[in-house]
Amino acid sequence: MAHPLPSPSDDIELRPPSDDPRQSPEYVMTSLAGAMTLGIEKGKFARPEIVLTGLNILTTYPQNCVANCSYCGVSRERRTPREETTFIRVKWPIVAVDELIERTNSVPHQMRRLCVGMLANRPSYQHSLEIIRQFRERTPLLISGLITASLIHSRHDLEQIRDAGADRVDIAIDAATPELFEQHRGRPVKGPHRWEHFWWVTELATTVFPPGTVGIHLVAGLGETEQEFLSACQRAQDMGVVTHVFSFNPEPSTLLGDYPQPPIGHYRRIQLGRYLINELGVNVAHFRFNQAGQVASYQVDPDWLDRIIESGRPFMTSGCPDETGETACNRPYGNGRPSEKIRNFPFAPTADDIRDIREQLWSDWAGDTDA
Ligand code: SF4
Repeated sequence: MAHPLPSPSDDIELRPPSDDPRQSPEYVMTSLAGAMTLGIEKGKFARPEIVLTGLNILTTYPQNCVANCSYCGVSRERRTPREETTFIRVKWPIVAVDELIERTNSVPHQMRRLCVGMLANRPSYQHSLEIIRQFRERTPLLISGLITASLIHSRHDLEQIRDAGADRVDIAIDAATPELFEQHRGRPVKGPHRWEHFWWVTELATTVFPPGTVGIHLVAGLGETEQEFLSACQRAQDMGVVTHVFSFNPEPSTLLGDYPQPPIGHYRRIQLGRYLINELGVNVAHFRFNQAGQVASYQVDPDWLDRIIESGRPFMTSGCPDETGETACNRPYGNGRPSEKIRNFPFAPTADDIRDIREQLWSDWAGDTDA
């Protein structure tokens, strides 16, 4: 069920050149939520329950990313000036690393972890090492390296990330099948990324970082079925690697700018399946799928499943933890604007939220037909 993509060169013009010289390693892009929490941007969270516990930053360059992933706000050929760039549909202001560190140490906040993301530009790897070292030496935050696997060529590259001060790494695989990965990130969009290499780096990371400290990112809504998505979660789980899930959210002027978000039922069933696989040890082989590749049944005790749903935990943001094991990377704007329905709850869902979740869970479901 792959999306037909427009050809990059025919339909997407090059991004207008930027005369803004700010770039990594001195500068980074910072999530809007992080910038708000540190007093760099004005604004407040849509719900009073939201407290940011993880700071997300990305390396930045005047030409933006050299890769061209179809869904990405900082992709090479997006027709948006750098100053107006959004990522996951919200602004990511460019901030000096020194200022971020200073504010992290002086502004009251509850952030426990920093995630340092790399663009695919060649210097991005070295720059992220420098940024990790700076934060490690000068702040108390735990640090995750969000790896662009195309920049990793050896075990030594991963060891350097660890030695710089990251206690965890995540590999942004994003697409759940080799075909979708190729279509959205590989040759058809003139991108450098290759599916096998991303999984090779994921496995290699498990030999460098302690058990339970490697993750992958997968984005739901790039054309995959639930069976395909959860099978990718299981592949990772079999390596001891947890999956952090995101819901596709169209960025205007990208190749997928006109594609809709996945139905909320698709996303909820994936969240619940991922939770069963990663947190409770249920194997995807245990699930039954219908002809549309949707979960037909998780085939677990219904009362047990009901209690799991009632806890709300499967629907909370999956992300790297703080020192107590609770998710620190809670990404309040990670899948959409404050006005939209929450897909990843950055807090424990309330009773009203759970009621909504129960209604959403089997919406858009094609029924219990055999696969
Ligand atoms: S490599 Fe990452 S930052 Fe670059 S275009 Fe792809 S998803 Fe975006």
